[in-house]
Amino acid sequence: MDYTLDTIGQAVSLLRLRGEDAESLHHAAQQVKHRYVGDEVYLRGLVEYSNLCRKNCHYCGIRSGNTSQERYTLSREEVLQAADYAYKSGFGSLVLQSGERQDEAFVSDIESLLQEIMQRTGGELGITLSLGEQTPRTYARWKKAGALRYLLRIETSSPELYARIHPADHVFQTRLDCLRALRDTGYQVGSGVMIGLPFQDEEQLARDLFFLKEMDVDMVGMGPYIPHEQTPLWRERARLLPPAELYALCLNAWAVLRLLMPDINIAATTALGTLHPQGREAALRIAANVIMPNITPFSARSRYVLYPHKICIEKSADDLLPHLEALIHAAGCRLAYHKQGNSRHFRTPAQYSE
Ligand code: SAH
Ligand code: SF4
Repeated sequence: MDYTLDTIGQAVSLLRLRGEDAESLHHAAQQVKHRYVGDEVYLRGLVEYSNLCRKNCHYCGIRSGNTSQERYTLSREEVLQAADYAYKSGFGSLVLQSGERQDEAFVSDIESLLQEIMQRTGGELGITLSLGEQTPRTYARWKKAGALRYLLRIETSSPELYARIHPADHVFQTRLDCLRALRDTGYQVGSGVMIGLPFQDEEQLARDLFFLKEMDVDMVGMGPYIPHEQTPLWRERARLLPPAELYALCLNAWAVLRLLMPDINIAATTALGTLHPQGREAALRIAANVIMPNITPFSARSRYVLYPHKICIEKSADDLLPHLEALIHAAGCRLAYHKQGNSRHFRTPAQYSE
C-alpha cells in the first residue's frame, strides 16, 4: 500500500480504508510514531476550571444558551490542590481548561494561578491553557506568568461549516488570528477539529488534517463530535455516522495525522474514549503520545458536560494511576513520569523568522 500523502485525494483514500487495509495503515503510523516520538506517553492532568462561557457554540453542552446547566467556577484552593496532586504524582504537565471569559477578573485570576503554580513547583510543572479566544495582550500576560502551551481547536477548517455550527458572532477569522497570535507569543500551539460533525464529509476531514499541517501546529487534540441534547446541533443527529463507522474514521484520522506530522504531540482524547471503551488505547497504539486524565475535583466534574456520557467521571484519584498504567501498557507504550513532554516540533518565534 502506498502511503504517499501529497494530496487531499490521497488522504481521503486512506480515511476510507477498512479491515486489513486499515490495520496496515495503522501499523505504518505506529512505526512513524515510534521513530519520531518514541513509545513514551506524557501525562497532562486536566483541570476543568469553570463551565461559565460567554459563547454559544451550537454543539457544546456548556454554551451560554443552555439554561438547564448549573454553573460553577473552581476556587483558587481547588485548582492549587489539583496542581499539587499532579506534581506529586509525577504528571509532568497540567491543562487548565474552561468556558470562555475575557473579563479582567478572569484574566487576572488565571494569571495569578499560573504564578502560584510556577512558584510551588519550581517551574517544573508544564502548563497548557485551553481558555478560548483572548486578546494578544492576555495571551502574553499568561505566557509571562508561566504558561507553556495553548490549545485552541479550529473545530473545522471550513469557514462555511464553521458558520453553520456557530452563531453569527463567532467568527472563523478571529479563531485563525488567535492561533497566529499564540504562535507569535511563543506558545507551543495546539489545535484540532471535531470528527463526524453533521455536513462534514471525508474530504472535509482530509482538508482539516492538511490545515493542521499548514498551520504547522505543535500539538493536536481532536475528537469525535458527540451530540448533546440541550444544543441546537442535536436536531441534525439523523445525519451522523453510526458509532462503529465514526470510530473507524477516527482511528484512520489519527493515523493519517501521524503520517502527515511525524514529530508533533497528539492526544488520545477523552471524547474518543467516550465513543469507544478502547478508543484511547487504540489511539496511543497507532499515533498518540499524550493523555489528559481528568483531575478536576469530583464535585465539579458532573457539571462540565461539553458532551454527554463523558468517561472518567466516577474514577477516584487513587484508582487513576494504576488505571492509566494499565491502559498505556496495553497500548504497548510507557508512561513518562516527571516529564513535561514538550512537542519536539516546536520552534520559537525567532526560529520561525530565520
Ligand atoms: N472554551 C474553550 C475550551 C473548552 S471547549 C474552547 O472552546 O476552546 C473544548 C473543546 O470541546 C472544544 O474545542 C470542542 O472541540 C470540544 N467540544 C465541545 N462540544 C463538543 C461535543 N458535543 N462533542 C465533542 N467535542 C466537543
Ligand atoms: Fe464555550 Fe468552548 Fe463550549 Fe464554545 S466549545 S460553548 S467556547 S466551552
